[in-house]
Amino acid sequence: MSNPRPQGKQRSLEMRSLQDFAAGKLGELDRASLHRVLAETERHDGVWVSRNGRRLLSFCCNDYLALSQHPAVKAAAIAATQRYGVGSGASRLVTGNHPLFGELERRLARLKGTEAACVFGSGYLANSGIIPALIGRDDLVLIDELAHACLWAGARLSRATVLAFRHSDVAQVETLLAAHRGAHPRVLIATDGVFSMDGDLAPLPELAALARNHDAWLMTDDAHGIGVVGGGRGSSFAHGVDVDVPLQMGTLSKAIGGYGGYLCASAPVIDLIHNRARSFVYSTGLPPATVAAAIAALDLIEQEPAYAALPLAKARAFTRALGLPDATSPIVPLLLGEADAALRASQRLEAEGFLVIAIRPPTVPVGTARLRFTFSAGHSDADIARLAATVHQHVMER
Ligand SMILES: *Cc1c(COP(=O)(O)O)cnc(C)c1O
Repeated sequence: MSNPRPQGKQRSLEMRSLQDFAAGKLGELDRASLHRVLAETERHDGVWVSRNGRRLLSFCCNDYLALSQHPAVKAAAIAATQRYGVGSGASRLVTGNHPLFGELERRLARLKGTEAACVFGSGYLANSGIIPALIGRDDLVLIDELAHACLWAGARLSRATVLAFRHSDVAQVETLLAAHRGAHPRVLIATDGVFSMDGDLAPLPELAALARNHDAWLMTDDAHGIGVVGGGRGSSFAHGVDVDVPLQMGTLSKAIGGYGGYLCASAPVIDLIHNRARSFVYSTGLPPATVAAAIAALDLIEQEPAYAALPLAKARAFTRALGLPDATSPIVPLLLGEADAALRASQRLEAEGFLVIAIRPPTVPVGTARLRFTFSAGHSDADIARLAATVHQHVMER
């Protein structure tokens, strides 16, 4: 027998406890300057946005190459919609596997130097599906403490033992492998290739050597690498030596300008992913327009490596102007400590016409709230100089 639905007074009591719960949680967030709200934002080109009726120059989009606005990319999306419609209709294993997927996956594999690739609905879905498909209860995941939330989500979903290592601490990874490798059939080492909130590169040559010596599998999340470091090929190609990373995951929603996630790996691994990754099997394929847009974006990146190098060059101009450590990616953090300090700095920059978001816990560790600047090929040199002068006057001298 099914339970009767609660009626009248009992129902409103339930509603009340739910509302009280939400209000109580929000009160805690408010008091800690951690309450986040959505701000409606219109983007018209790669770098200018309108918000609350004001035009602001954005330094917080991940659209590093402004490809979300590129005429050739938009035209490809429109043409694919005309030809195939707006949705893919089902999971790719049913009828959702329109012909554009194969083309995009061949292109991604070529760019990353792997046998095969698999496109997912998003980067978050990719990480949630990949790790549990390869790693199980008896296994071990070693993960950088600053790895992206969805790499953590995938690790936890796998039900494996998950051990964090200090940020980019290769010596600690070696110690953990020496202590624990023998107790687990399989071990995955998971790290961002370019760290999303710090902009630094993971020590991939060293991690790859450790993985090789201890029969562990190295997985990189290259969301902020593809298109902008390593000649556009990503973090595995940004170290001046060939680094063997058998699992290269990333997103199509940052430098590629659209939406979706991917894994580049060997053919058997990709075949297994098609069969075992639940976020692939049980989720609808991306719309044709989105896949066509990604193909067009990859065309542009492959044809114009000098353009792909611009965001990093702009970030370097900014760090040099302010005497900060040289940028190693288009992401530059300015650590301010407490959440309210980061918020106030963001508000002062907004008053000067710049949109730079304050990044607060839990996105970053407590006490490391910051401004996070991201640089785009669409920023002019004069924009960078103006930003640097404003940050110097309104953030660093306060
Ligand atoms: C943005 C991001 C993701 C998530 O990708 P989506 O396609 O936006 O879901 C994953 N990993 C890192 C490091 C990211 O910065």
